[in-house]
Amino acid sequence: MLNLIIFGPPGAGKGTQAILLAKKYKLTHLSSGDLLRQELKNGELGKKIKGYQDAGKLVPDSIIIKMMENAVAKNIKGKGFIFDGYPRNPRQAKHLDKFLKGNRLNINAVFNLKLSQEEAAKRIILRGKTSGRSDDNLKTINNRYKVYRKQTAPLLEYYKAQKKVINIDGRPEIKLISKEINTSITKLK
Ligand code: ADP
Repeated sequence: MLNLIIFGPPGAGKGTQAILLAKKYKLTHLSSGDLLRQELKNGELGKKIKGYQDAGKLVPDSIIIKMMENAVAKNIKGKGFIFDGYPRNPRQAKHLDKFLKGNRLNINAVFNLKLSQEEAAKRIILRGKTSGRSDDNLKTINNRYKVYRKQTAPLLEYYKAQKKVINIDGRPEIKLISKEINTSITKLK
């Protein structure tokens, strides 16, 4: 099994690369943001989730951890996973490691897509014109960035300690980034 994490600030291109990786290696693409958005129509829970997303805050761990574990369990017989947007804080990472270990699995690599806040904000504003996502606006983006720096970026240390982080320049065009990631994958032990 090949289990990967695509990491990086909002707007870095995680989703785009995750889709390409899923296709090439036949992995299950688990986007926490997409899974949460699928729940939006789901009554009270949906309302709660939308509130957090529109504020650019993390949805509570009590909601997201179970949701992701269920999604992993459903696809455990597949060729592997590409985690996109998850984990997003140290607690989520520890839960994921524990859950994978319980299934005799582990994370093989964490691709850290690097892009400046200015570049990323430009991309998100552009995406907002067609995505229909209510959180793709300047105010929410700034908050998502704050949350990223405070809660998510520290995770890099956690995975660095496991020697799993591979830094990728997020500026080039999609195909070039994808090529760089694929080359790194062929070198994984
Ligand atoms: P982006 O990476 O561009 O911010 P996502 O679709 O990954 O977009 O996330 C959108 C929103 O969904 C986040 O701002 C947050 O509210 C919620 N969310 C996504 N993943 C998580 C997570 N792992 N933990 C908590 N909240 C999450």
